[in-house]
Amino acid sequence: MRFSFNTQLLCRVFISLPAAGRWRAAQSRLFCSSPPTSDQEKPRASMLRHLTSKIKATGPVTVAEYMREVLTNPVTGYYVKNDMLGPDGDFITSPEISQIFGELIGVWIISEWMGAGQPKQLQLVELGPGRGSLCSDVLRVFSQLRSVFGGASVSVHLVEVSPVLSRLQSQSLTGNSSQEADSEDEPVYRHGETAAGLPVSWYRRLDDVPAGFSIFLAHEFFDALPIHKFQRTVKGWREVMVDIDPEKPDRLRFVMAPSPTPASSTLVQADERRGHVEVCAEGGVIVQQLARRIAADGGAALIADYGHDGTKTDTFRGFKGHQLHDVLSSPGSADLTADVDFSYLRRMAGGGVACLGPVTQRTFLKNMGIDSRLQVLLRNCSDPTTRKQLTGSYDMLTNPAKMGERFHFFSLLHHSRLAKPKKPDGLKLEKKKSPAPLPVAGFTELSFS
Ligand code: SAH
Repeated sequence: MRFSFNTQLLCRVFISLPAAGRWRAAQSRLFCSSPPTSDQEKPRASMLRHLTSKIKATGPVTVAEYMREVLTNPVTGYYVKNDMLGPDGDFITSPEISQIFGELIGVWIISEWMGAGQPKQLQLVELGPGRGSLCSDVLRVFSQLRSVFGGASVSVHLVEVSPVLSRLQSQSLTGNSSQEADSEDEPVYRHGETAAGLPVSWYRRLDDVPAGFSIFLAHEFFDALPIHKFQRTVKGWREVMVDIDPEKPDRLRFVMAPSPTPASSTLVQADERRGHVEVCAEGGVIVQQLARRIAADGGAALIADYGHDGTKTDTFRGFKGHQLHDVLSSPGSADLTADVDFSYLRRMAGGGVACLGPVTQRTFLKNMGIDSRLQVLLRNCSDPTTRKQLTGSYDMLTNPAKMGERFHFFSLLHHSRLAKPKKPDGLKLEKKKSPAPLPVAGFTELSFS
């Protein structure tokens, strides 16, 4: 049943949605060149000064604290001050490369909302919405399938730490008609309405989003959260810290804590086999919050990012102008990121929710029908340049050697979603087995017959 529902939904979206005119096959963070050998640029003086005075006052800082300061310091943080996305920024992401990406996620959301029994209220919550492209593509699908929602009330909730990006999101989602809150202390720091009349609210923290049935999206969000780094030594696990280079006082360097730190004593698993591990404790806390909300109010979370299942070691890196960048050089001028450890997220989610994945981006998008959508767009397009862009961005998203296998999709679901549907009362005595649980789109192949 569910299969046919999803396919019908996809067909409606595929045939009726126009091309949104955003087809850029650019470089993602995976295909950047190495940094230039002679880094002549001047360090971002204010961030470097802030970090060195902090280290002088209290000693070396953890990599997590370094990353948090560099990325989200309320005054000089990289995310707080920049629009870093797109061909002119530091990196590009799947929703920026092709509209198909967001459209398929829009279908996924509606499918999960229907799988949950079409609750009267649907909160679409996005963590780290960047330029708002993913959300805007999702909302275009919602508009197209308005009739499916019937009388349900849909609202949009964006968790965004960057005032600069929240303005861009407002431009893309509300045509710049949103308003800022009067006081900085308000949990909703900006609010507005989409052209279709859906309310949109902005928050700094997930905690501030109201309770209720929600579908959470996090695309390239968890990789931006601070990680702790630990090294196995003959004396046990030691935390990697950031210190001032004694030979060059305007430079930073990595050092090893001489004795256990609170993080090295608590965050490394007792049976850990790797020699070096990165743990994103902040990501763990956010997944716990998502799991608690989904268990209490229903809904699902779809997390997409590059990452691994507890196998990789040193993945901390920087990006600037689509090139790899030394993580300790010119702090605040470049993006910092680390691969997401999905095995850690699964562990932190706990038993209160069901976890699906990770599956590769290629598998997820193909299961969602990306090939059919591409064919429809190509059929309606005769311009050779646009056709080339369409196939180029499809290739970028799905090619195993590009984003197809490094990026993964992972989902948290309410347990009821994977439970076998109950047999109607009248069938109690029937010997047939209960029907199988309804498949979850993207994680299971759909048939287009
Ligand atoms: N999802 C978008 C943007 C990815 S970049 C895309 O795929 O295109 C990471 C996003 O997360 C940015 O919007 C950044 O400002 C936001 N962000 C980073 N750290 C955050 C934090 N601690 N809290 C809320 N938002 C954060």
